[in-house]
Amino acid sequence: MVSSSVSSKKPVPLVDLGRQYRQLKKELAPVIQEVLASGHFVHGPHHQAFAGEFARYCNASHCVPVANGTDALILALKALRIGPGDEVLLPALTFIATAGAVCNAGAIPVFADVEEKTMCLDPESVKNKISPKTKAIIAVHLYGHPANMTALNTLASGRSLPVIEDAAQAHGAKHNGRRVGSLGTMACFSFYPSKNLGAYGDGGAVVTQDEALAKRLTCLSSHGSEGGRYNYVEIGTNSRLDELQAAILRVKLRYLDAENEARRKIASRYQKLLEGTGDLILPQASQGSEHVYHVYVIRSKKRDALCEWLRNDGILAQVHYPSALHLTTPFQKLSIPPGALPAAEKIGTEVLSLPMFSGLKESEIRRVVRSVKNFFKKD
Ligand SMILES: *Cc1c(COP(=O)(O)O)cnc(C)c1O
Repeated sequence: MVSSSVSSKKPVPLVDLGRQYRQLKKELAPVIQEVLASGHFVHGPHHQAFAGEFARYCNASHCVPVANGTDALILALKALRIGPGDEVLLPALTFIATAGAVCNAGAIPVFADVEEKTMCLDPESVKNKISPKTKAIIAVHLYGHPANMTALNTLASGRSLPVIEDAAQAHGAKHNGRRVGSLGTMACFSFYPSKNLGAYGDGGAVVTQDEALAKRLTCLSSHGSEGGRYNYVEIGTNSRLDELQAAILRVKLRYLDAENEARRKIASRYQKLLEGTGDLILPQASQGSEHVYHVYVIRSKKRDALCEWLRNDGILAQVHYPSALHLTTPFQKLSIPPGALPAAEKIGTEVLSLPMFSGLKESEIRRVVRSVKNFFKKD
């Protein structure tokens, strides 16, 4: 791409959404045309149909589509009437939106540590941080690996605490044979374009088995209206999935399982070819978990040098996420000292995401692997 690049070969992208589009183009084109011609751009038939289909996919009884994954989290907290003075437990290693949503709902984020192996919320750490002010736990299925919902639910149910799944990176992942989305009180999804189920713009949803919560979510996402004209019962907001995105997502949902399977195949190629290389720790699904590899995250003590090496070699690796959140600027006001959440802090310095998407070719996988091996050979 760039002539100054050290490598003359075509770069291997981290994600290439164009490849998937070219495969689905024939199916998507008529659906998009139909929506445009219908003149129905919000709250139309696709919106409603998608809600039903996605709820069914998650084995849940209700799905409330919203504008994005961040709104899904904020609205889930508000539906539970969580706000000022309330504490919400969440992992220190996640995308900032999880913690930002807690603050935007008016509540206080309380960071807990993650497990070394799965990099997801550590139930032991959660247990130590539960206080009388704790009103909910947010479990993040990070990188596509389900959090230990069995242990978290056990902890929570003894204290009547709701558990919210942040499933923005894990559409279709399974924990003990059950899909994420139906494992907690509510589950929040994002349909940001590069997520495992991605729209061609923004989108999100909250999925739940609880009818009363679903009703309240619908109300809050439509200006506090309980349906009908000007029937406002409280202050809400405007957060909706538009008709075009819903129509696109309905088509893409039919391919989600096949795409996740393709991601798992790529992960097993990486696993086979990279095992035993340098000091690498490769991602693995824990017992009873079905990983959907939203990103393929390896770990190394030489992360920064490896990342630079790969990028100079045209392998567009990237870091998700460079720091545990309690050490980042927006959360310094919580005054959590370095060393307080050791696993999250260490993992933040070691993680590196390699190219991973359902159209990644074997030749590209081999190029990535060769470059990683060359890095470790040189020292
Ligand atoms: C993407 C993501 C979100 C936010 O979703 P948006 O649709 O971008 O608002 C929240 N949590 C996690 C873990 C995410 O990866």
